[in-house]
Amino acid sequence: MYRYPPAVERAIESLTKLPGIGPRTAERMIFFLLKAPKGEIRTLAQAIGDLADKVVPCVTCGNLSAEKRCPICSSPRRDESVICVVGEPNDIVAIEKTSEYQGLYHVLSGTLSPLEGVGPDDLRITELLHRVKAGKVKEVILATNPNSEGEATALYLDQQLKPLGVRVTRIARGIPVGSSLEHVDEVTLAKALEGRREI
Ligand SMILES: [Zn+2]
Repeated sequence: MYRYPPAVERAIESLTKLPGIGPRTAERMIFFLLKAPKGEIRTLAQAIGDLADKVVPCVTCGNLSAEKRCPICSSPRRDESVICVVGEPNDIVAIEKTSEYQGLYHVLSGTLSPLEGVGPDDLRITELLHRVKAGKVKEVILATNPNSEGEATALYLDQQLKPLGVRVTRIARGIPVGSSLEHVDEVTLAKALEGRREI
C-alpha cells in the first residue's frame, strides 16, 4: 500500500490525537502546511514545543504561567482576602477581561463528573482548602460553570468550605444582556428570579 513519506505520516498521526481532528482533517491541515512558507511551519513547531517547555501551572493557583507563580498571584495589588474558584485557566482570562475583579483565583482543573470518572481527588480541591486554612482568605467565590456539573462542584465545595468559617458565594446566574425573556430557558429564568436584588 502506498503511504506518504514518514514525516508526513507522523505529522498526520500526531494531529489526530487532538480533540475533534480525524484523519481526513489532519491530512488537509498537513497539506496546507506543506504549501506554506517553511518559516511559518517552523514558527508553528516552535510555538507548540514552547507549550511543553515554557508553560507551568502556577504553584499557588494552578493558572497557566511562565514563572513558578503567575502574575496575578505575584501582584501586590491583588486582594488576598478573596479567592475566585474556576474550572479552567481560560475562565480567568474571561473574568479578567471584565476588569471588575481584584482578588485572587484558584483553578480546579476540571469539574466533578461522576459519569466521566472525575471525583474530588482529581481536582485541585485539597490545595484550595489549604489556601483557605492558611488564614488570609475571607471570601471564596464559586465561579464554576452554570451547568449541572459546575453546580454539583459548587455544592461540594460549599460543603467543604463552610466549616472553615469563610464566606462562600456563588456567581449570579441570570439572563444574558441583550436577550429577551421569551428566549430564555426556564431554568435560567428561575435562577435569575432567585438571584434578584434591590435596584
Ligand atoms: Zn497563580
